Amino acid sequence: YQAKRHKLVTRTFEPWMGQAVAEQLHIAKRLAIALANRSLYLHFQPQVDMRTGELIGAEALCRWWDEELGEVSPGQFIPLAEERGMIVALGTCVIDEACRQLGDWQCQGLVLKGQLAINIAADQFDDNDLVSTLLTSCRLNGVAPEALSVEITESGIMTHPEDAIATTEILRSHGMGLSIDDFGTGYSSLAYLKRFSADKIKIDISFIRDMLTSDNDRTIVATIIAMANTLGLQTIAEGIECKAQSEALLAMGCTQAQGYYYDRPLTAEQFAQRWLM
Ligand code: C2E
Ligand code: MG
Ligand code: MG
Ligand code: MG
Repeated sequence: YQAKRHKLVTRTFEPWMGQAVAEQLHIAKRLAIALANRSLYLHFQPQVDMRTGELIGAEALCRWWDEELGEVSPGQFIPLAEERGMIVALGTCVIDEACRQLGDWQCQGLVLKGQLAINIAADQFDDNDLVSTLLTSCRLNGVAPEALSVEITESGIMTHPEDAIATTEILRSHGMGLSIDDFGTGYSSLAYLKRFSADKIKIDISFIRDMLTSDNDRTIVATIIAMANTLGLQTIAEGIECKAQSEALLAMGCTQAQGYYYDRPLTAEQFAQRWLM
């Protein structure tokens, strides 16, 4: 036991670990610079009605291309921003950029059907300034709050459920949408779910990915859709990659989707060209 224990202790000091920490630190520094320069940007992925293929909204997804590091994926830099206390600043940039783009499209006479969804991390959902950040950005860019929707994960809501309930009510009172992202992967209780003023549930990609081959996943998807119907919530499936998935979902009563089968996240120009004209 002692030997094993000793081995474990020495392992903590292996050089690659120091390197990994140093690398994370370096990426965090580059991210801080990117935030200061406002060089993060957004891609836009359409959300469609699977029955008609028509646009019903879009999701804004943050992108970062760094001179030194190249393209860094949000799967890497979002958790890093959360760990290093940069997520509120990042989220504020995203809100501002989303509103600026919506205002820009409006000026060009382009209308986005439905709402533009913005991802909000747990720490920002807990931040007292969130509502005023959103409303101020809307006002400055001439965008109606009703043009926005907020995506928050279950864990984002469950850190301080009572505060989160209050925040969701304020957002909804201004006409903003509220979707629960990655639904099914967290641990939110049904009792709370009923009290959140959400209007939509996003079925997590992991269940969609395997629903055609796994009875379990198909049952989970069907259960989520049935539960959402009971609670009066809409459902949208994320990560639709083929026709068979859309057909299965339609048969279960889910009509909204987002995924490569319809289109990838696009630059603002591409999105406007393909979906707004
Ligand atoms: P998410 O909010 O669940 O976003 C959906 C992710 O699924 C996006 O990944 C999107 O590109 C990807 N996706 C869409 N359709 C398909 C498909 O058919 N197949 C597959 N395999 N993937 C698909 P992305 O852009 O890499 O973002 C990853 C996550 O990073 C997001 O997951 C979200 O949690 C986070 N994120 C992205 N932008 C922001 C942001 O502005 N703020 C915050 N707080 N988080 C963000
Ligand atoms: Mg999302
Ligand atoms: Mg999601
Ligand atoms: Mg996801």
